[in-house]
Amino acid sequence: MIAVNLPKRVNRYTRAGKGGKTIICPLCNATTHVGNFAWSSLLCSSCKEMIPKTTWIIEDNLPQQLELFGPEVDLGTKPKT
Ligand SMILES: [Zn+2]
Repeated sequence: MIAVNLPKRVNRYTRAGKGGKTIICPLCNATTHVGNFAWSSLLCSSCKEMIPKTTWIIEDNLPQQLELFGPEVDLGTKPKT
């Protein structure tokens, strides 16, 4: 089996959560912050293209639990070396 690190795409189960979500335009790699996913396509403010919802890439570089509680819980919880 080949391990491929595919980018996460927005799907119909994607939720923005409390602070919204940053998504990446698949055409120009510009990031956009959205407060909700109540749309079927979104105009990219960078390349001016209507990008269908399910082709946007989720910027997801935070561990799952940090995303759940928000980045502020990261303060002071870093392991001491
Ligand atoms: Zn774009």
